[in-house]
Amino acid sequence: MTELPIHARFDDASAKVASPITVAMGDGVGPEITAATLRVLHAAGARLAIESIEIGERAYLQGHSGGIPAAAWESLRRTKVLLKGPITTPQGSGVKSLNVTLRKSLGLFANVRPCVSYAPFVATLHPDMNVVIVRENEEDLYAGIEHRQTQEVVQCLKLVSRPGTERIIRYAFAYARAHGRKKVTCFTKDNIMKLTDGLFHRLFEEIGAEYPDIEQEHMIVDIGAARLATRPLLFEVVVTPNLYGDIISDIAAEMTGSVGLGASANIGASGAMFEAIHGSAPDIAGKDIANPSGLLLAAVQMLAHLGQVSVAERVHKAWLATIEAGTHTRDIANSETTRAVVGTKAFADALIGNLGQSPRQLAAPRYARLPVREVASTSMDRLETKVRVGVDVFVEWEGNRPEALADVMRSAVFGAYHLDMISNRGVKVWPNGLPETSCTDHWRCRFLAEPGKQFTAVMGAELLLRLARAGIDVVKTEGLFTFDGKPGFSVGQGQ
Ligand code: NAD
Repeated sequence: MTELPIHARFDDASAKVASPITVAMGDGVGPEITAATLRVLHAAGARLAIESIEIGERAYLQGHSGGIPAAAWESLRRTKVLLKGPITTPQGSGVKSLNVTLRKSLGLFANVRPCVSYAPFVATLHPDMNVVIVRENEEDLYAGIEHRQTQEVVQCLKLVSRPGTERIIRYAFAYARAHGRKKVTCFTKDNIMKLTDGLFHRLFEEIGAEYPDIEQEHMIVDIGAARLATRPLLFEVVVTPNLYGDIISDIAAEMTGSVGLGASANIGASGAMFEAIHGSAPDIAGKDIANPSGLLLAAVQMLAHLGQVSVAERVHKAWLATIEAGTHTRDIANSETTRAVVGTKAFADALIGNLGQSPRQLAAPRYARLPVREVASTSMDRLETKVRVGVDVFVEWEGNRPEALADVMRSAVFGAYHLDMISNRGVKVWPNGLPETSCTDHWRCRFLAEPGKQFTAVMGAELLLRLARAGIDVVKTEGLFTFDGKPGFSVGQGQ
């Protein structure tokens, strides 16, 4: 059975009035597929009060570095629902991804992508595939905090929070339960990133205990992705941090037959955004050949989110009937089941002609309601006791003998703490490093309090002052803490 990530706030009965939504036509093929989608929604009887905004390429060119003018923000904050055509992200520095800005500014913490095969009507190697990828949408490397620190080294901060992780994992379980899905699989890389991905994995197990009716499994993301690509029937719902989710959901969507079919819902506690997963496809823009299905199926999710469940069903069934009838856009045309290869407009016309029909072979969609606000709330029973025990001082240093750096570092020590180790790109190089380890100009020097002593913030400030006077180029520091006695920092590789 095809399922949709529906987050209906009202029943149809209470949604007699038009729902206010904001629509952005987008760039490239955006205007064509958005116009086709709106025409279908209108013909199906969707009750929508549309506010149009212009975001993306034109806004960037007008000097809005985020691609979103003030008037667009006002509309979004008013309607809290955005149907968005794909946007072209200009190449080069100085421009932030508009999609990431929208997701994070509006608190759209969950990205939900159902990846469903429509065999035999759309050719695919995996005819029975039916997986929903639930991707964390706000954190991880997408915090977008990057720095160049030395001549040779740049860094990107991977941020994972307890509330953010709790929210997405709870959402994935609630989604599975609401849609009758029996299994949730979590992908992380916590064999390497023991603190960040480790927190994600740990919360998956903690929160999973509240859902004993749902089978639960954790996989390291590399083997998990490989299994998903070769044996998708092993999976029903996959929950995963932002970057892995980004990659995996594109692969999963492509496996169903065409990136042009994939729909994506971005859900938050007080807003939502619906879009196709593909981009603005500039190579086929203006030719009336783009498949509007991705955006259309996203709009179906939007209708259900708005409480217009019967209209959503009507559109989705007619879409399935159109695909079954062999009316296909070029990207999914095949020698077996295609009867007519049509353009964007003609596909919408055929779909409108099929309104009221149901598919014969493909499963009709099923809808479920999800209490987004309850899922979004998180709790932390108590604060753990946090004790500062040291500091990692990162320095730019041109030398190549860690012993020489250690001598300078130790000469700056002034109090009940010591230089514990020096690492380069995470590998311990002092004391007792290996001469084979290749080093850059970016060194981490770890200072730790003597056992049973505290390392105060004042000691840290004094240390920095002494290092500055010794001519050391400190590029950043990280406080080292224990929480309830457990270290809140990783050890050096080889330590
Ligand atoms: P793309 O998804 O636009 O295109 C990849 C390929 O898929 C192209 O060959 C294209 O012709 C085809 N394709 C895409 N949508 C199709 C459709 N509806 N029907 C038929 N074929 C379709 O990816 P890209 O070329 O890497 O990116 C183009 C631009 O889109 C870039 O500026 C990128 O930043 C942006 N982008 C935006 C979003 C978004 O707004 N959510 C997502 C991805 C990429």
